[in-house]
Amino acid sequence: MTSSSPEAGSKPAVELPENTDNEPVTWDVVVIGAGPAGASAALAAARAGRRVLVVDRAELPRYKTCGGGIIGPAKGALPPGFEPPVEDLVREVEFTLRGRRRRVRSSRTTLIGLVDRARFDEALTRAAVDAGAALCEGVAVSRIAEQDGGVTLTLGDGEVVRALAVVGADGSAGRTSAYVGVTFDQVDLGLEAEIPVPPEVAAHWRGRVLIDWGPLPGSYGWVFPKGDTLTVGVICARGQGEATRAYLRDLIGRLGLAGFRPSIESGHLTRCRKESAPLSRGRVLVAGDAAGLLEPWTREGISYALRSGRLAGEHAARVAGVAGDGEVDKIGADYHTDIDATLGREMRAGRILLGVFERHPAMLHSAVANLPQGWRVFRKVVQGRTTFADLLERPAARRVMELTGK
Ligand SMILES: Cc1cc2nc3c(=O)[nH]c(=O)nc-3n(C[C@H](O)[C@H](O)[C@H](O)COP(=O)(O)OP(=O)(O)OC[C@H]3O[C@@H](n4cnc5c(N)ncnc54)[C@H](O)[C@@H]3O)c2cc1C
Repeated sequence: MTSSSPEAGSKPAVELPENTDNEPVTWDVVVIGAGPAGASAALAAARAGRRVLVVDRAELPRYKTCGGGIIGPAKGALPPGFEPPVEDLVREVEFTLRGRRRRVRSSRTTLIGLVDRARFDEALTRAAVDAGAALCEGVAVSRIAEQDGGVTLTLGDGEVVRALAVVGADGSAGRTSAYVGVTFDQVDLGLEAEIPVPPEVAAHWRGRVLIDWGPLPGSYGWVFPKGDTLTVGVICARGQGEATRAYLRDLIGRLGLAGFRPSIESGHLTRCRKESAPLSRGRVLVAGDAAGLLEPWTREGISYALRSGRLAGEHAARVAGVAGDGEVDKIGADYHTDIDATLGREMRAGRILLGVFERHPAMLHSAVANLPQGWRVFRKVVQGRTTFADLLERPAARRVMELTGK
């Protein structure tokens, strides 16, 4: 990964076709949302030769509450030849357990790339536009209805567009998951502060992240540096708002950052899907956060968004080419099968590890921060050389799970 700088303030310029005779324009594929899931879906559908429109309610670049950590699987899922704009490359991890038992581990090779999501998402969307997708930004999709072998989308400005297939990639608070009927069995609240810091503080964090295993079951906090700004965040199961805010306050205070005024403070829910939840309804497929596809333990979602977005875009391109409901349903089932075999398998492993972490945070801290084998496993997972799912299939891991009651 190398650093690159997209042209500041430029917008992809693609002419939308004229809406003649007051008839809505019919697109092959409309993608709702220009995050990593939507951009990947649009790119895949455009590369399959489809006429694609991406609609986002925000104007790009737009802020997204996110650490911006790009681990190996996310890097591996980027479009070929795409160079993400990277703010920092991480080789050192500082681990703490509720602020104590500090241990710094380093690696000879890059562990995590850190991106500013506004720049990253804009660059990814531009790659989709370069592949032929049109972009309509600053307009929300307010209504979805399926009729007459297509999908009708009503935009916030009252305009209506039609599509032969739709990818819902409108994030965890979007409309498409409700339309498709996605249900969730894990909802977490993530809080973050973007803290501009003086050069000497930025220098301390360059190339280094902090991971603090937190005081609430399943919680953890982080510092992800982006040059002269530190992203400090925490994540916890929903329903403990005050305790989650207190954790972030304590973390910032403990790190000596309380004296610097955050430029942005924000919160966002992350949601993991129930295993049985649908991923499509008729001609509408969901991807990324809209589908509840997210790693349950780490709540890493960029690789899930990129991977599911690409699959959704490819399947939506197929849906756009068929007429009968039976064929559409078959493609939806294929999409479900593909997701289940890949991301579904990884989510099952993540749920198991979250359970262990909730009950034994100190044990996991010691394993990762102190044991050479644990640190090696951590490196292999974040670099994408193995997965939690692969690890849990090993006999030794099964024995540990048995001992920890899983
Ligand atoms: C605090 C926090 C920290 C995180 N840190 C990391 C991390 O370090 N690494 C990692 O891998 N993951 C992280 N995640 C998860 C990651 O941010 C998400 O999984 C990822 O952004 C999902 O991408 P997406 O494309 O599905 O959705 P999003 O990135 O949310 O994009 C959805 C898009 O849809 C648009 N939209 C919404 N509604 C509409 C509408 N009605 N019409 C049109 N457009 C609409 C939005 O404007 C937005 O652009 C973090 C999450 C949180 C909450």
